[in-house]
Amino acid sequence: MRIYNTLSKKIEEFIPNDGNNVKIYTCGPTVYHYAHIGNLRTYIFEDILEKGLTYLGYNVKRAMNITDVGHLTSDGDTGEDKMEKGARREGKTVYEIADFYTEAFLNDMKKLNIKIPSIIEKASDNIDIYIKMISKMLDDGYAYISNGNVYFDISKADSYYELSGKNPDDLKIGVRDTVSLDSSKKNPMDFVLWFTLSKFENQIMKWDSPWGVGYPGWHIECSGISYKIFGDYLDIHCGGVDNIFPHHTNEIAQSEAFLGHKWCNYWCHGAHLNDESGKMSKSNGEFLTVSLLEKKGYSPLDYRFFCLNSHYRNSLVFTYDSLDIARNAYKKVKNKVSLLKEEGDIQKDLFDKYRGMFCDAISNDLNTSSMITVLYDVLKANELNNTTKIELLKDFDKVLSLDLFVEDDSSIDKDFEEYITNMINERNEAKKNKDYARADEIRNTLLEKKVKLIDTREGTTFELM
Ligand code: AMP
Ligand code: ZN
Repeated sequence: MRIYNTLSKKIEEFIPNDGNNVKIYTCGPTVYHYAHIGNLRTYIFEDILEKGLTYLGYNVKRAMNITDVGHLTSDGDTGEDKMEKGARREGKTVYEIADFYTEAFLNDMKKLNIKIPSIIEKASDNIDIYIKMISKMLDDGYAYISNGNVYFDISKADSYYELSGKNPDDLKIGVRDTVSLDSSKKNPMDFVLWFTLSKFENQIMKWDSPWGVGYPGWHIECSGISYKIFGDYLDIHCGGVDNIFPHHTNEIAQSEAFLGHKWCNYWCHGAHLNDESGKMSKSNGEFLTVSLLEKKGYSPLDYRFFCLNSHYRNSLVFTYDSLDIARNAYKKVKNKVSLLKEEGDIQKDLFDKYRGMFCDAISNDLNTSSMITVLYDVLKANELNNTTKIELLKDFDKVLSLDLFVEDDSSIDKDFEEYITNMINERNEAKKNKDYARADEIRNTLLEKKVKLIDTREGTTFELM
């Protein structure tokens, strides 16, 4: 397996710490609103990573957090807690908001055939671990208390800028909203581990700590949960590119200060999905959610197929036209698959050959469009009998999760479908008998009924127009 590592800025051979066992941590959602389809693109990439590694024979354990406290409206230490803001918007408590949007997020994951990570932890359930880690960082001189808050002192972190590749000069105050002018900080880039000086008096989620009643900073939750689940070492940490700085940068600083050694070897980041305005947003323009796509007549898997056609490290612009193209291509694939009827014994050598091609696509930095090319190759390969094709496609679908063998719950009436099938059979017969006039007549009759025939090497399928 070769994968791009943001830490080294190179594609590297993936070598887990413990033989075949792989520990993956993925940053979860901030549950103050629905996830937009951009967020979900990142979870699709992470799903392919987990399933791809499993397909290659690794034993993967994956954990994800649910951010229900501490993530401020900036990614740094300024602004209001997003959860508090969400609660005010809807006139509910933060707990109600968290439960509602966590459920909605998990539902979106299911609709998109994203495997729910086997371990999910709420940020608010792990306060004791953050307190343990922060206490040690204070004892060891990595953290300091100023005006009631506990800060991490970035001057104590080796290679603070390694992951982001940033130049400290670019991060001067005012250049980014992630750097705040806070006179309590020794260095403007220092970040909060524990807030007691809440700017928001009515902050609902708060806990006792050795430094006063307060709440954790956003970054400590992922260091804490990862430590609780995986202990001293992590193999892969992922998220979207916006997480590189400051979130993942700060996670590395905290975890390595606490552990006293290098923590995670591979950092993998998914590029963004943008809309035509340049940035996907939950507040401006059309709020693109899975439910919105469904309301517009798309299936969530049309969107999954759309995402898989491009590489996770390339940013992608969402338009309905490009989603339409993906939907039609996906429909054609499913139609072709539905025409495959078992025939003959499995061709073991050829099965291995195509499986090998699929493994190569996974191993090549999760090249999902190559995986789909191998799928097309299988569909059109003359050397493969249908049984082998079916077994290969079922196998590939363990990673792609496109429900290739699940019949569409289409609104097409069963009698009408039978009529179309009979017409296709009659047309095949007519063509065999060189009665092209009748064959054309059948095509046109179906066209009038808004049914378009598609001739492929494997046979004729149809599409409703
Ligand atoms: P959040 O709920 O804001 O914490 O984000 C959840 C995940 O979505 C994180 O891994 C982000 O990096 C990722 N993300 C945010 N915006 C986008 C986007 N436009 N495209 C892809 N991923 C995104
Ligand atoms: Zn995180």
